[in-house]
Amino acid sequence: DNSRPQQVEIETEMVEQEPVISHTEKKEFRAETRKLLDIVAKSIYTDKEVFVRELISNCSDALEKQRYSEIAGKATSGNTGGLFINITTNEKERTLTIFDSGIGMTRDEVTDNLGTIAKSGSQEFMKNLQGGAQVDGQALDSIIGQFGVGFYSTFIVADSVEVFTKSGLEGGAKGVRWVSDGSGDYEVSTVENLDFERGTKIVLKLKPESREFSRESEVEKIVKKFSLFINYPIKLNGQLV
Ligand code: ADP
Ligand code: MG
Repeated sequence: DNSRPQQVEIETEMVEQEPVISHTEKKEFRAETRKLLDIVAKSIYTDKEVFVRELISNCSDALEKQRYSEIAGKATSGNTGGLFINITTNEKERTLTIFDSGIGMTRDEVTDNLGTIAKSGSQEFMKNLQGGAQVDGQALDSIIGQFGVGFYSTFIVADSVEVFTKSGLEGGAKGVRWVSDGSGDYEVSTVENLDFERGTKIVLKLKPESREFSRESEVEKIVKKFSLFINYPIKLNGQLV
């Protein structure tokens, strides 16, 4: 029977891959990062949706880096379906997931980039706080709005942030998982069996009071607002935004 092998293949493809996690290390955030996270967690007045802008802008940066690496011959496009952003919402699970097929990160890069606040936006933010700004209410709001706190703004809305990433530059590199609840520490692991070849997937487990960010209609509005200058296609639950 000729059709049998094909059928088996299709069935195999439909089995959902479970990521396999190993080599877990627990690490502490640097003191400065902890301070920033503490402030972020307490900023109840903040215009919460800014985290979407920060995530989309990070996706866009990662996609640009991948595009340049391909032009420079340092990376191949691989079998990844091009350069794009995929956002998915799950109201039942109270999650928001954002994936980009950009440059991704190695394990060292994950620790360097997500464990410290050496980054532009967040550093400006801290400088401003130290410059005698009022650290409450409206003042804090406007500082966060103005400078952004980059990736850490996810902790405004999420109890737990999980990052799955795989570098496009390190051929054959394994995937990495980073997870934190935004308090003192984070965990980094090796992860195999990811459902993508290259890029970064960020899963936000939303706080109960931020559940609106797991609603498609709400997320669509926000994404439309922040995607104006993004040069890559963005899909929300499979539909182009
Ligand atoms: P900034 O974007 O100002 O550098 P962020 O806090 O937004 O600061 O991000 C910190 C760093 O984490 C980025 O510089 C980048 O190296 C890394 N990063 C964040 N998101 C991604 C992503 N989607 N893909 C690859 N790297 C990322
Ligand atoms: Mg950023």
